[in-house]
Amino acid sequence: MPLHQGPQGPYRRPSLNPFFGQADPVGGMTEAPPQHRLPDGPLPPESAYRLVHDELMLDGNARLNLATFVTTWMEPQAGVLMSECRDKNMIDKDEYPRTAELERRCVAMLADLWHAPDPAAGIGCSTTGSSEACMLAGMALKRRWAARNKDRYPSSARPNLVMGINVQVCWEKFCNFWEVEARQVPMSGDRFHLDPQAAADLCDENTIGVVAVLGSTYDGSYEPVAEICAALDALQERTGLDIPVHVDGASGAMVAPFLDEDLVWDFRLPRVSSINTSGHKYGLVYPGVGWALWRTAADLPEELVFRVNYLGGDMPTFALNFSRPGAQVVAQYYTFLRLGRKGYRLVQQTSRDVARGLAERIEALGDFRLLTRGDQLPVFAFTTTDDVTAYDVFDVSRRLRERGWLVPAYTFPADRQDLSVLRVVCRNGFSTDLAGLLLDDLNRLLPELRRQPHPFTADRQAATSFHH
Ligand SMILES: *Cc1c(COP(=O)(O)O)cnc(C)c1O
Repeated sequence: MPLHQGPQGPYRRPSLNPFFGQADPVGGMTEAPPQHRLPDGPLPPESAYRLVHDELMLDGNARLNLATFVTTWMEPQAGVLMSECRDKNMIDKDEYPRTAELERRCVAMLADLWHAPDPAAGIGCSTTGSSEACMLAGMALKRRWAARNKDRYPSSARPNLVMGINVQVCWEKFCNFWEVEARQVPMSGDRFHLDPQAAADLCDENTIGVVAVLGSTYDGSYEPVAEICAALDALQERTGLDIPVHVDGASGAMVAPFLDEDLVWDFRLPRVSSINTSGHKYGLVYPGVGWALWRTAADLPEELVFRVNYLGGDMPTFALNFSRPGAQVVAQYYTFLRLGRKGYRLVQQTSRDVARGLAERIEALGDFRLLTRGDQLPVFAFTTTDDVTAYDVFDVSRRLRERGWLVPAYTFPADRQDLSVLRVVCRNGFSTDLAGLLLDDLNRLLPELRRQPHPFTADRQAATSFHH
């Protein structure tokens, strides 16, 4: 199975001529390089740049990509810092001690933000994103469970992890890669995320932990972390089972601390043993950085931490990768310094205001029913009302694409596969103005959509293969 599929099409060679990206400065046509095998010789840098740049023009416009949670705008100063550090490898902590120090400070700041008992100790690390952070947190949960069950594992016990069916795909990856049974609570009626009691009911002596998601990927809703912990407290009282909770705060761990200060979801809950976030989502850094933190050193088994001495020194690391760019970590530190708590609050509040305003105006069009309103994550999901029969959410997604907007449509997982939605992720840089333009375009399309004889769902399969 090829891992890369795509529109390769017939074998084509792009052409170069003397007036456009020419390869030979003396003139004349030059044959462009092959695209599917390494060219025999070099090209001048301008020509190589031109070829690559031009092909990339056909990618979507990142700022109009309302499917992604990942940062698509940073200040030029952040860009300068990132280009100054792009040659620094994060693993070379002895060679780049200041970069390593900035990483340590970011961990301490997050530990403080999330109310770790000893923030200065800052037990945590940067990663390539939340997916790697979740793998690390899951491994720590599994290892702690295995240590508690030395007498039964690996021979007779199979570990399991309890979560809602709405978890991001990284948790299915974790369970698959690390041979843990994924115990998933399905959706039910208007409940689109994990139910505390249902989670507790799925736990047994082989449960390594429960995952609570702060900010469900499907609809932007917060899972009730405190209630999940309370249900597990009751379980412990009844049965003696002491099940730790990991909070997947990929988005919400950088939203709730600024906008929902009274919401108790973090290390203030004694049962929360680890938390992850994506620095590159509402942490406001370009793609390539995440964070994993543990409550105390006891929550991260020491034997998972590696110390290598062949770079000089003896720095501890916990990571799946070895080499990894340092620039994103530097950009995270820059953003923390640049914004502070107040700055983050203003930026996230703006995104939430845009989300709430846009959700309300979409509801007012009459054709749509909101599932969420953008008042938790600045994200909302909506579907067509029962009266709408001429078109469906997949038609809306496709037609918006004609105007440049990337708004995904997808079906919900079990047991609400009957429900298909559109989802809008409002990020920094998606301004009130842009939201207004999106609404204008949607408004303009509606008369045509209403005149369709029936939904054109032929591309439904393609539309639902979307995963974020
Ligand atoms: C985005 C996301 C992830 C994966 O994060 P990456 O940083 O893209 O690896 C995991 N969990 C949730 C809830 C997410 O939203």
